[in-house]
Amino acid sequence: MINVTKTFLPDQEQYIQYIREIWDRGYVTNNGPLLQELEEKLKSYLGVDHLYFCTNGTIVLQIAIKALEIKGDVITTPFSYCATSNAILWENCNPVFVDIDPDTFNINASLIEQAITPATTAILATHVYGNPCDVERIEEVAAKHKLKVIYDAAHAFGVTYKGRSLLSFGDISTCSFHATKVFHTIEGGALISNHPELDRKLHLMRAFGHQGDEHYLYAGINGKNSEMHAAMGLVNLPHVGEIIAARREVCDGYDRLLNWEILSRPVINPHIEYNYAYYPVVFPSEEVMFRVMDALKAEDVVPRRYFYPSLNTLSFMPAYIPCPVSEDIALRVLSLPLYVGLPQADVERIAGIINANLLP
Ligand SMILES: *Cc1c(COP(=O)(O)O)cnc(C)c1O
Repeated sequence: MINVTKTFLPDQEQYIQYIREIWDRGYVTNNGPLLQELEEKLKSYLGVDHLYFCTNGTIVLQIAIKALEIKGDVITTPFSYCATSNAILWENCNPVFVDIDPDTFNINASLIEQAITPATTAILATHVYGNPCDVERIEEVAAKHKLKVIYDAAHAFGVTYKGRSLLSFGDISTCSFHATKVFHTIEGGALISNHPELDRKLHLMRAFGHQGDEHYLYAGINGKNSEMHAAMGLVNLPHVGEIIAARREVCDGYDRLLNWEILSRPVINPHIEYNYAYYPVVFPSEEVMFRVMDALKAEDVVPRRYFYPSLNTLSFMPAYIPCPVSEDIALRVLSLPLYVGLPQADVERIAGIINANLLP
């Protein structure tokens, strides 16, 4: 079977070497030496100053909301993974969905201002597929209305925008290092903050919020990751360059082979170094999307409806806020198989099945 993604697994011996070291030390978690080493290496690789390695890309969204003391209405995107808006709900805030830009599928920055009310305290936007939000415009609106900005950068590992890490925008950016992402630690995530004064707070909040047995400072949570997960990160990090290069080759193949008279895809910002995190294609209708998906599945190829459904339509949202562009794209988009080791012959086969099923 060819799945939409396949986890990159590094040399087993290198991982086992780290595991032996962990056994020798007898120290498996709680801000251990491998975790600290990984944090230092990630900061230098990504070009960011403050980074905290945590257990996943969802808890870091919750910690970010808590640490920035965000309350009330949070302007957010309907076109993301459900973790984005679920984190807002878990922190007892109210997601206010603003529709997406039809070219980039990111939150439409020109619609944000009209959604702001006295109850609005923050913007939580996703860099969808690793393609940057309109960070300048968002920064401007946020400054004008004194709103906090969090970026869900789960897709944006290693992406630079105008020569600067995309993770360095906003008050806090969050990453996911889940097994399906470009860089992974099996499960994992990170908080990237641009405020040195938040250092101690974030460090403590991911580990219950107390320092030693004396100082209980914050209502923290358990979001700290283990030495075993840090070890996977240390073994994988040196491979990121080749991982991105291999993904690029797959994407170039789809670019070359698919029928762009009928299909479309989001416009990738020309000012970035991209990480080729996903390969979304948009079909002319949901009907065509289903026909192609069924044809692929019949050949044991499993794409993913990513993102579907549009988050503003979920039954457990406090209110239905129409987002016609997001709802429409969500019905028609598929992410195609993309991973290290996917042979070009399979890329050709997948593109062939797609092109052959575009017309009835
Ligand atoms: C993967 C993902 C998350 C959640 O990350 P986990 O590490 O799986 O918790 C959040 N937001 C987006 C946009 C994602 O793609």
